[in-house]
Amino acid sequence: MIAIVGGGPAALGAAIACQAHALVLERNPRPGTKLLLSGSGQCNFTNARPPEEFLNTLGAFRNWLKPAFYAFDNRAFINLLEDHGCPVFIRADKKAFPQSLKSADVLETLLRIAKSGGAEFMLNRAVQSIVREGDGFQLITADGSAIHAHQVIIAAGGASWPHTGSDGASYRFAESLGHTILKPRPALASVEIRNYAPFSKCAGISLRASLRLGKFKVEGDLLFTHKGFSGPLIIDNSWQMEAGQRMQLGLADAARFTALVVKQPRRRISSLIHELGLPQSLVQAMFEHLNIPGETTASQLKREHRELIASWLEGAEFSILKVESLATAMSDYGGVELKEINSKTMQSRLFPGLFFAGESMAYSLPSGGFSIQMAFSTGYLAGKSAMNCI
Ligand SMILES: Cc1cc2nc3c(=O)[nH]c(=O)nc-3n(C[C@H](O)[C@H](O)[C@H](O)COP(=O)(O)OP(=O)(O)OC[C@H]3O[C@@H](n4cnc5c(N)ncnc54)[C@H](O)[C@@H]3O)c2cc1C
Repeated sequence: MIAIVGGGPAALGAAIACQAHALVLERNPRPGTKLLLSGSGQCNFTNARPPEEFLNTLGAFRNWLKPAFYAFDNRAFINLLEDHGCPVFIRADKKAFPQSLKSADVLETLLRIAKSGGAEFMLNRAVQSIVREGDGFQLITADGSAIHAHQVIIAAGGASWPHTGSDGASYRFAESLGHTILKPRPALASVEIRNYAPFSKCAGISLRASLRLGKFKVEGDLLFTHKGFSGPLIIDNSWQMEAGQRMQLGLADAARFTALVVKQPRRRISSLIHELGLPQSLVQAMFEHLNIPGETTASQLKREHRELIASWLEGAEFSILKVESLATAMSDYGGVELKEINSKTMQSRLFPGLFFAGESMAYSLPSGGFSIQMAFSTGYLAGKSAMNCI
């Protein structure tokens, strides 16, 4: 018997691979609480980009996750759901959802597939500890019962949104067995910004921008909030952010601004910058922030002010006050160090028979369906590998 701890997408991928050998232990009365919340209840379960593009989006974790992706890729996930009565809708931006836009349909379909393959589900079964015993493992659950398993797949999620049931238990189990845990930090999180007052009126503005964090530079969609920034550009890279850190945002083409100032001396500065794609409220907030009188014409603009605006448009500097907490961040970056897991099998490099899947592992992925896909894929690969050990 293969014990699978957890009942999220990683555990479901494992249960589908292990079929009648799977015993799924889920602490909640129902599996998949986080899956139900995903995509605002609509469940953006994968992304239909071509395989290479999909993998390249995984950034620093691309190579490590590649074997799991090819064990059960995005096309296979879409086909699995469609073949089992859950039609899929792929948006123009390649995000994939159930056609019904109801996450419950994805969850029910995966549960049905797992159960029809013979997987057994024990609900309200919080695992409290996992210890090595003989040639396998002993799992103690909250009701005091002991379960012996030859193989264990730890798929109890990460540490964000703990009220869904994923409260870092995966990390505690792995650590107690001797694995090294990267301390979890928020990921897929928005940030609050120091001295942000002038920009709070810009809440709701979304625009294309570049982000520079030290040597790292990336482009994406930026969203202004009441207290700071969100949107894919920020949340996808938030796993690398912390309070006190400085970031530069490239908001418009500075060279074009300088050229427009020279070419159109009678135009108001605010309308010139607006022409570069910045909404008026953001232009006004910029003037307030830089302490520059905005309503001058281009010819009246002092040279030092022109240079200040140009450099701000090219790389507006902001200091992070705080990153959204683990309680509300959509994911975390932390967990079992990847170097202690064989990426071709998801098996622990320390203990044969022990496997990891999903957010129990120290990776962080961008928004857009990549997290659920890779939770399922790593679960599936862990399940297949555990089956090979029987
Ligand atoms: C609000 C929100 C929206 C999201 N939207 C998306 C989206 O649209 N697309 C996307 O790709 N990703 C999204 N994500 C991220 C995605 O949901 C996760 O990456 C994914 O659920 C991780 O799967 P998992 O199986 O590793 O962990 P989880 O889904 O967290 O599942 C872990 C399971 O283990 C159980 N468990 C924990 N401890 C124990 C224990 N001791 N004993 C037994 N069971 C235990 C938990 O109850 C839980 O059911 C979203 C996350 C949040 C919070």
